Amino acid sequence: MKQKIVKDLIKILFLFGGIFAFFYVGLQLLSEDKKNSWLYSGDEAKLISYEQEIKLGNLIDEYLIDTDETILLQNELIDSVVWAVRSRLEKQIIMSEYDYKIVVVDDDLVNAFTIPGGRIYIYKGLFEFCESAEQLAAVLAHEIGHVEKRHSVSKLIKEFGLKILFSIVTGGDTILLGELWESTVSSAFDRSNEKEADQYAMELLERAKIVPTAIASFFRKLNREELDYNENMEFLMTHPHNNSRIKASLSYETAGNFEAQDFDIDWKRVKEALK
Ligand SMILES: [Zn+2]
Repeated sequence: MKQKIVKDLIKILFLFGGIFAFFYVGLQLLSEDKKNSWLYSGDEAKLISYEQEIKLGNLIDEYLIDTDETILLQNELIDSVVWAVRSRLEKQIIMSEYDYKIVVVDDDLVNAFTIPGGRIYIYKGLFEFCESAEQLAAVLAHEIGHVEKRHSVSKLIKEFGLKILFSIVTGGDTILLGELWESTVSSAFDRSNEKEADQYAMELLERAKIVPTAIASFFRKLNREELDYNENMEFLMTHPHNNSRIKASLSYETAGNFEAQDFDIDWKRVKEALK
């Protein structure tokens, strides 16, 4: 009898030991692997609060201004254009956590970029390139899409890891800030991010009573012009995919009662102001 009890006890011990080992090993594997698959699966931005993201954006922006990496354009007419376009769009952003800061960089490149925390930089070259306020609005709406979907901070988490980002937010290491900026400005979002930002832009444009096909006309112009191809630039890297983006914009269906409202902006004057 006693022997049986001992045998049963040993069996139970083995059983619990087995269950414990199974979960222990499983957890270890998960923690080893999480960097690549579990946590980093497209929802990276959830690992950082909006407050921390905004702080990170402020630090990168301070770095840009302090080190003269980015010279801002001083031009009243351009400022008024940015104000007119952004205010139409901003009113239609639903439940944003961001207080947008949109500035114009004195650079002839046809480009724009976002850094974490709702900061958007539009290059002077983009104003020279666009044919209408609607096209500029399309680009801005696309950048707002990147902001609202938190693409910039997700990209930084993937590239640098959370630990480094948290240490920057708390300590503000300027050397690392330079690297973060380099990464935001010179490496492109992936195709799924671009698609998501385009989709966001089309819906935002529609709500703001701006024709969503402005995205198509912008990309058509990019196709027509012989711009230097640069796979790392926000807009210049899009050549191979321009056609699918044009198609998506052209096939986007606005609601039946959609009526576009023109911008009261003389675009020729805008271009002349930049000469
Ligand atoms: Zn983009």
